Amino acid sequence: MAAKLIKGTEVAQAIREELKKEIAELKAKHQVTPGLVTILVGEDPASVSYVTAKQRTSKELGFYSIQDNQSPDISDDTLLALIATYNKDPKIHGILVQLPLPKHIDETKVLYAIDPKKDVDAFHPVNVGKLLIGEPDFLPCTPHGIWQLLIRSGTQIEGAEVVVVGRSNIVGKPIAAILMQKLPHANATVTVCHTKTRDMAFHTKRADILIVAAGRPKAVTADMVKEGAVVIDVGVNRIGMTPEGKAILAGDVDFEAVQKKASAITPVPGGVGPMTITMLMLNTVKAAKLAAGMV
Ligand code: NAP
Repeated sequence: MAAKLIKGTEVAQAIREELKKEIAELKAKHQVTPGLVTILVGEDPASVSYVTAKQRTSKELGFYSIQDNQSPDISDDTLLALIATYNKDPKIHGILVQLPLPKHIDETKVLYAIDPKKDVDAFHPVNVGKLLIGEPDFLPCTPHGIWQLLIRSGTQIEGAEVVVVGRSNIVGKPIAAILMQKLPHANATVTVCHTKTRDMAFHTKRADILIVAAGRPKAVTADMVKEGAVVIDVGVNRIGMTPEGKAILAGDVDFEAVQKKASAITPVPGGVGPMTITMLMLNTVKAAKLAAGMV
């Protein structure tokens, strides 16, 4: 039987509706309007489209939002000064610097300059550390989106064997850290695979929940998946162009074959992708509440 589709578009929409109610209450009862600035350096087409989508969603939700476009040859010092200004701006609760930055800019220095209380991407080491010790203010957006998809699709996480393919700082490591926490909807046994894993299929075949963030089309094929597993495909690979010039996207999982074996699976597009932006909005609302001393 074909796997149930875990539709990120629908789950993201449900969370946005919840956020709209929360934002209306914040405005009416506490005179707080969540504020988000997205800083874009240069004109990389993928970055432009990500930032446009983030701005569009923040406006739909009624945020105070600023799109700050900077020249690709901006210096480290000017960018750091800009971040310092937003760190002090009481109307701005979330600061997002769109990655990747041009090569001449020290990305680490820039991310570390963001006030951790406004770090809605949760990439600052303070927020990474807080997640690891189980006291997060913010969860990083893509892993949080994956977690919500698992919870809201009714997946049994506690006690499950979870295998994560990929160990990046933005997906693999944090989703492993979240699911291993001593918490309801977590408490999983987590294995993390990477390019030096000796026998990846040995691990993936044991997974009740398989999360794939490798950045390689068909990194996971049907023979690597246990019958009845829940499969979360994080990958976004541009594998071609339509005659109209639109990118054709594929995940990291051989969807056609794996959906015949899994009990549930996320599609690409329409799976994890829509969740990431929604979790950014959720973090900005949380940042506004933190600034107002409400949490
Ligand atoms: P990344 O930084 O390139 O990391 C990829 C990880 O996968 C690395 O740890 C790498 O191992 C591992 N890996 C690569 N090929 C492998 C293979 N054949 N077998 C086992 N492990 C393998 O990528 P990322 O930033 O985590 O992103 C992963 C994918 O998710 C990309 O397609 C990206 O576009 C997508 N993504 C989607 C969203 C979303 O919102 N939907 C958000 C973020 C990322 P090593 O460490 O050994 O090199």
